[in-house]
Amino acid sequence: MFINKEEFKEAFIRKLEEKIGKKKDQASEQDAYLALGALISERINQKWLQNNQKGTESRDKQVYFFSMEFLLGRLLGNNLLNLDMLSLVKTGLNELGFRFTSIEEKEKDAGLGNGGLGRLAACFLDSLASLDLPGHGYGLRYKYGMFDQRFIDGNQVELPDQWLSQEYVWKVRREEEAVEVRFGGHILTHEQEGKLHFEHVDYEQLRAVPYDVPVIGYHNDTVNTLRLWSAEPTEEDILVKAKKEHSCQNLLDHQRSLESITEFLYPDDSTEEGKRLRLKQEYFLVSSGVQCVIRSFEKLDLSWSLFPDYKKLHINDTHPTLIIPELMRILMDEKKLGWEEAWQITQASVSYTNHTTLSEALETWPVEMIRSLLPRIYMIIEEINERFCRMLWESSPGNFDRIAKLAIIADGQVKMAHLSIVGSSSVNGVAKMHTEILKKREMKLFYDIFPDRFNNKTNGISHRRWLMYVNPLLTNAIDEAIGEQWKKEPERLQDLLYQIEDASFLDTLNEIKQKNKQNFASWVEDKTGVQLDPTSIFDVQIKRLHGYKRQLLNALHIIHLYNQIKCNPTSNLTPRTFIFGAKAASSYHFAKKVIKLINTIAQIVNNDADVKDKLKVVFLENYSVSLAERIIPAANISEQISTAGKEASGTGNMKLMMNGALTLGTMDGANVEICDVIGNDHMYSFGLSAEEVQAYYDTGIYSAKETYEEDERIRRTLDQLIHYSPFSKGGTEFREIYDELLFNNDEYFVLRDFNSYVNTQQQISYDYQDIRNWNRKCLVNIAHSGVFSSDRTIKSYAAEIWGLNSHNTVNGLGEENGM
Ligand SMILES: *Cc1c(COP(=O)(O)O)cnc(C)c1O
Repeated sequence: MFINKEEFKEAFIRKLEEKIGKKKDQASEQDAYLALGALISERINQKWLQNNQKGTESRDKQVYFFSMEFLLGRLLGNNLLNLDMLSLVKTGLNELGFRFTSIEEKEKDAGLGNGGLGRLAACFLDSLASLDLPGHGYGLRYKYGMFDQRFIDGNQVELPDQWLSQEYVWKVRREEEAVEVRFGGHILTHEQEGKLHFEHVDYEQLRAVPYDVPVIGYHNDTVNTLRLWSAEPTEEDILVKAKKEHSCQNLLDHQRSLESITEFLYPDDSTEEGKRLRLKQEYFLVSSGVQCVIRSFEKLDLSWSLFPDYKKLHINDTHPTLIIPELMRILMDEKKLGWEEAWQITQASVSYTNHTTLSEALETWPVEMIRSLLPRIYMIIEEINERFCRMLWESSPGNFDRIAKLAIIADGQVKMAHLSIVGSSSVNGVAKMHTEILKKREMKLFYDIFPDRFNNKTNGISHRRWLMYVNPLLTNAIDEAIGEQWKKEPERLQDLLYQIEDASFLDTLNEIKQKNKQNFASWVEDKTGVQLDPTSIFDVQIKRLHGYKRQLLNALHIIHLYNQIKCNPTSNLTPRTFIFGAKAASSYHFAKKVIKLINTIAQIVNNDADVKDKLKVVFLENYSVSLAERIIPAANISEQISTAGKEASGTGNMKLMMNGALTLGTMDGANVEICDVIGNDHMYSFGLSAEEVQAYYDTGIYSAKETYEEDERIRRTLDQLIHYSPFSKGGTEFREIYDELLFNNDEYFVLRDFNSYVNTQQQISYDYQDIRNWNRKCLVNIAHSGVFSSDRTIKSYAAEIWGLNSHNTVNGLGEENGM
């Protein structure tokens, strides 16, 4: 790429002059960012071109990963790391008088996602490229990503995320690859030589234009593609409209309404119009992606029956489920295959990942909405449903109940998960426990019919971004202890276990954590004015705000600690800093109340002379990938406290573990597997098990009110939400939270798990006193975190679901597993 630092410096200065028109001494950090981005992109483009050629010529099987979300965060640092240019660029820029870290921060996060699901998609792309596998992402180029969160008076306010307000450097617009997508209209049916033909008329047509983002492999020659589609009017459409309208303003309004499809990540779904828009988005992604895959297959000039041997389409949760009927539509209506053949091809090429056990989160669409927006697609879904129901009937005649439960269309709704299962060859959960719950409970009836289809793929995270990039100090220390092999084979982190009795290595770990905490503390002080004590325990809960994730349990514990200190100001409690980051969905009223509560607690605790040296609470605004990257290296405790059975996997737990934080968690999602590898002594588990939670739901015998009445500590803490306390805000503000717990019977068992949680927290405070032993536990966590690399996850998707081969066997993938 660059032969040496001097060559880089020269090229950079030239780029500043050519692109920005400035000499190095006049250039701002923003200028430097844009010049650097342009320079690196050019270099990437050469590799990218070679890769695209290689892809076509070698006829490798390709995977297309469809996801409505890709939570990429910033790319500069990660790209440089993967290109093996990070230290060269850093020192080069520093020598030119720039600060690399400030330049890096000029990049806006690509926040095209909401949480774990979108971040998983981003880590998967990183692993695919780094394992030299031909796998590409298909997503949407939302003009506004996840909202920009601010707190005003402790309340969440949402600003539009203007990530495209400055030039986005990591993309190429591919005009020539645009496709057309149709909505609405009617279907005319003709019969010709005994065959039915379907003609779509009166539709509205849109152009889908791809913006390609390069995905760079770690220290290899692979550059894959993340293709983000953007909605635009067709030229024809504009001309027709122009003839009718005669007004530029109306024309622009029309154009904007068409472009609105890719305007927002989450259109406001409180209105019918907003819901419709979301459905349009899903089909827009699906149709443009499938057309593109078909086009690429046709270039190979092979028989259609070979399609599944060359193309795999993966759906990240049910949002892109319409690829099933869309692929059927194209194969039948355009390529003239019969139903049976089209169905075999579709099923064999599509695979599906389920991300939730929360039945209220399973996606459904009103029949009427699909029928009017996508008339031909609806006909195909109906036919899939009829054939499936017929099969059910034949295997168990008269069992209406089973058919009613399993049907794809029921009660005027299309059930997307059912369509996904019926129309694909693989259904996977994202952690062992989650997959078991799918098989034994949520999807049991489907599992009984298609037992071979169900499998587990425990989530993972890119150790390149979440360790090497975010925590250079720890990375260096690991290199010195065990060499660098772990970077290509993260399981080798286990070699660190030889250091378990090495006092000087344990001290090094401690110093690194201390340093990271100091850095973070000074950043927080800059940003918020709050002073943190780097010797206190940094106790971190960062994730979407949701009832089941139980930020409320954490908050109630802080109130409890506050009470303890107030009662006994001289007690020597281990000082704690509670760090939160979380966005609440716009329409999720309860979650917003919890944000307000935590901010209120922070306000009071941080300013109370009796407690402020022992407790601090910071709720950082705008939780995002970049913020996660700052917090994680500084964490001592990783709060993974969801109600057991509710968190499908979690990936935040893995990132924190990899950086030497100890997990305080329920036996839920991937926490169970973390516990399996490190052992119970190296994490803090508490609370009801998933079975116990389920038993309570089944029997209905849990009474939050009884728990409250019988336990004075709980009663006291809870009462403070509505009276007798500085937190209660005149009694009205947090009444809803109080009522939810007491009178709505505490759906997520916050009160039931309270004592177990408090006691475990006490144990943590005690254990932290013995810092040597604490660091030993941290070491065990880091050493066992390699299996949670997304490289491991992707290797098993590749081998067991997609049947993919690496072009290059260096990374040790097994041979093709014919599916
Ligand atoms: C990893 C990550 C998540 C997922 O966190 P969980 O704790 O697994 O819910 C969400 N948001 C961002 C920005 C992340 O980086």
